[in-house]
Amino acid sequence: MPELPEVETVCRGLRGVLEGHRLARVELRRKDLRIPFPKGFASALTGRTVRRIDRRAKYILLHLDDGQVAIIHLGMSGRMTITDPAAPLEKHDHVVFTTEAGKQIRFNDPRRFGLMDLTTESGLDDHKLFKHQGPDPLSAAFTPAALSAALKGRKTSIKVALLDQRIVVGIGNIYACEALQRAGISPKRKAGTVAGERAKRLVPAIQETLREAIAAGGSSLRDHVQPSGELGYFQHTWRVYGREGEACRCNRGTVQRIIQGGRSTFFCRQCQS
Ligand code: ZN
Repeated sequence: MPELPEVETVCRGLRGVLEGHRLARVELRRKDLRIPFPKGFASALTGRTVRRIDRRAKYILLHLDDGQVAIIHLGMSGRMTITDPAAPLEKHDHVVFTTEAGKQIRFNDPRRFGLMDLTTESGLDDHKLFKHQGPDPLSAAFTPAALSAALKGRKTSIKVALLDQRIVVGIGNIYACEALQRAGISPKRKAGTVAGERAKRLVPAIQETLREAIAAGGSSLRDHVQPSGELGYFQHTWRVYGREGEACRCNRGTVQRIIQGGRSTFFCRQCQS
């Protein structure tokens, strides 16, 4: 499932072909993804110029020149790739955007957990997808003080807490494991005890992990590709994720796998406490 770095990578890849460009045609090839497309979605976008593309949590936002904002979520398996318009459509190409300059961007999503919605600039903060969200981990609002305040009194594990979008957005299973290893914090530690020095280690550990992943084009586990069609490379530098039984880079321990909240957690008992 794409996490923050993969979505950021997709935004960056789309900017060159979409920002400042007019959408000449928007074709929906079915009536829904995870949920139906909003009524009039294609016609609302057609003829509009994409003013700016940015990311909010794991959502791609296309800001249009008339104040509308298209919201796109890649779900589990969604891809947005820049494709030669002459190339034959593939089975799971559900949405095709064509710009006036003749570039084509195809949204392909075999599992159809993705979604698209439409709102306005002024409606964005109150949109149901964003209303209850915590801070973006790469924003100035995500400080050690803010994180420990959000975790205060929580008895759940820190690993499970990091996946809670009300505490911080965009961090999924992979980057939670990686950031905790980097911070030397056990994923089993009670979330409420991550304060003071630990919070001061965890915030930069999360940010460094995400920034390095973005620089590597994200992690291509199953589905992620950059809009150029290139894979992401960060999976090659995972420290613990998917490395059960391997020696930890601390040279003292072995990476273990446990299940927390129904998901695999990878960590090292020797360097994480
Ligand atoms: Zn270790």
